[in-house]
Amino acid sequence: MTPIKLLILPGDGIGPEVMLEVRKVIDWFASNRGLAFEIDEDLVGGASYDVHGTPLTDAVMDKAQSVDAVLLGAVGGPKYDVLDFSVKPERGLLRLRKEMDLYANLRPAQCFDALAEFSSLKRDVVAGLDIMIIRELTSGIYFGEPRGIVTEGNERVGINTQRYTEAEIARVARSAFELARKRGNKVCSMEKANVMESGVLWRQVVQEVHDTEYADVELSHMYADAGAMQLVRWPKQFDVIVTDNLFGDLLSDAAAMLTGSLGMLPSASLGAPMENGRPKALYEPVHGSAPDIAGQGKANPIACVLSFAMALRYSFDLGDEADLLEASVNDVLAKGLRTPDLGAGEGTRTVGTAEMGDAIVEA
Ligand code: ATP
Ligand code: MG
Repeated sequence: MTPIKLLILPGDGIGPEVMLEVRKVIDWFASNRGLAFEIDEDLVGGASYDVHGTPLTDAVMDKAQSVDAVLLGAVGGPKYDVLDFSVKPERGLLRLRKEMDLYANLRPAQCFDALAEFSSLKRDVVAGLDIMIIRELTSGIYFGEPRGIVTEGNERVGINTQRYTEAEIARVARSAFELARKRGNKVCSMEKANVMESGVLWRQVVQEVHDTEYADVELSHMYADAGAMQLVRWPKQFDVIVTDNLFGDLLSDAAAMLTGSLGMLPSASLGAPMENGRPKALYEPVHGSAPDIAGQGKANPIACVLSFAMALRYSFDLGDEADLLEASVNDVLAKGLRTPDLGAGEGTRTVGTAEMGDAIVEA
């Protein structure tokens, strides 16, 4: 098989610590499942600024454009707070997202059985939960023109514009339908077509893309406010939810809290399909560089490990391997292993980053 080309950008803070555990997982798949990887590792964020004076060099940007997937740890840290905005670590990540045109942001809300009972929510609401929210990331009200604060008469007026083109809606809808085919084959699209023109168009275009290209996938539409209520009331009714930038921002944060710690949450950002049919892709944990615990060997590597599982599933069609990795994470949690962020309880044992990574590999 042609090797899978990965660009690994560990970044700052706990980024390199959690990425080290992902490297162990990758090595295991290479040795035991015959997967071939071609791995390039480079700098991003503050780590890049320290060496090159910029959070992302053109050379790294070029590499990101040519590999099958990018795996990123985290960027930023208090050391860089004083820097000019143009060279802040976060700018490295923003440039990657913008130049790779990653318009579909995937945030799963997944609850591992072993953690369900510690959830503050009713156990039967979250146990076994596995849903995916796709947020349109590059358009909508955060980018629409005109925008600004203007003076009208004797008062100030704040203006933002919600604007979506047919093409922008269609491409994120396709991402959602493609993903649904690799999961539960069900998509729920959310907007406010009852009060917003962009919502009316959103609903029409999603329906058209469905009818012409993805009629095999089950599609429903929901107003986003009702969707927010249903998401908290009975989230297991959903498989894939696709929504715009603003609603996706809110709904994905709400969904994340159904499952608990920041140290458990992976994400993916996908763009247009490349020549080989795979989407441009960047996988990263939802959490940041966690400067308060960096260098102490106690960061939870699971969010980063699960981001790699998403890469296996969504970039490389290796669903069985992704299942295996997720099951291993669940096994380790079921045995009671916990990094400090996951709390402690009867039958649990507190472990550090490396021990958690080793246990996942062992499982
Ligand atoms: P950013 O601006 O990069 O998002 P942040 O400070 O808002 O940074 P995080 O860096 O994610 O957010 O950290 C938020 C809190 O969660 C911190 O207390 C951190 O220690 C904790 N945390 C984040 N990720 C992990 C992890 N993988 N394991 C354990 N604790 C974590
Ligand atoms: Mg933050």
